Amino acid sequence: MIGCECPVCTSSDPRNQRTRPSVLFGFPRGNLLIDTTPEMRLQLLRERVRRVHAIAFTHSHADHLFGLDDSRLFSKWLGGPVPVFCEQDTEETIRRVFSYAFRPGTESWPAGSIPKLQFMRVAPGVEFEVLGQSVLPIRLEHGRFPVLGFRIGALAYCTDVSRIPKESLPLLEGLDVLILDALRFEPHPTHFSLSEALAVIEVLKPGRTFLTHLSHSFDHGPTQATLPPQVALAQDGLILEF
Ligand SMILES: [Zn+2]
Ligand SMILES: [Zn+2]
Ligand SMILES: [Zn+2]
Repeated sequence: MIGCECPVCTSSDPRNQRTRPSVLFGFPRGNLLIDTTPEMRLQLLRERVRRVHAIAFTHSHADHLFGLDDSRLFSKWLGGPVPVFCEQDTEETIRRVFSYAFRPGTESWPAGSIPKLQFMRVAPGVEFEVLGQSVLPIRLEHGRFPVLGFRIGALAYCTDVSRIPKESLPLLEGLDVLILDALRFEPHPTHFSLSEALAVIEVLKPGRTFLTHLSHSFDHGPTQATLPPQVALAQDGLILEF
């Protein structure tokens, strides 16, 4: 946190140095990025990601969206617009926030000068295909704001969630890997606390769970030591095979 001198913010443990949450799926036919955080450019440089072929959005909050301008380069590499999978309200926010990319006449601007996006509408519970893979959007509640989680095979990514609607629970059964929001120890109106996340894990029983969207409440090492063996704190740069 800016201006914070707590032991986590001043820690030398790299696992305590956290950028905003995002995941990249590396499929045989290309890379699908979930959300474009304000640090997206730095994250892609850090991980030496050379190409992003498609983007999907969980929701349109600033910490998941504002790095989108740097997708300019994705369309340059692709030689065409970047497919963006999202719900209608996310598309509307993107068109408003990045209005300069949608002005009449900009279609002819050179590749790499502004984001060039091709919106693809998705709906919770309805699988879509991207880069030869099936992806299932799952409705989650982020306070009063509806957002999407995504399930690909036996892995699900559920960030920014404070409640999983009853109808979404069956869609999260039989997971090998769950990546789940856990903001802090104390309850929060729009995110799971650690104990709420652990209660969800008790119900869904995924093989392994990685907790994400972690705040400076969590000192990685000491917190990890208190967690059940199949639950871990995620960290920047974490790579999973599934
Ligand atoms: Zn702090
Ligand atoms: Zn959010
Ligand atoms: Zn967030």
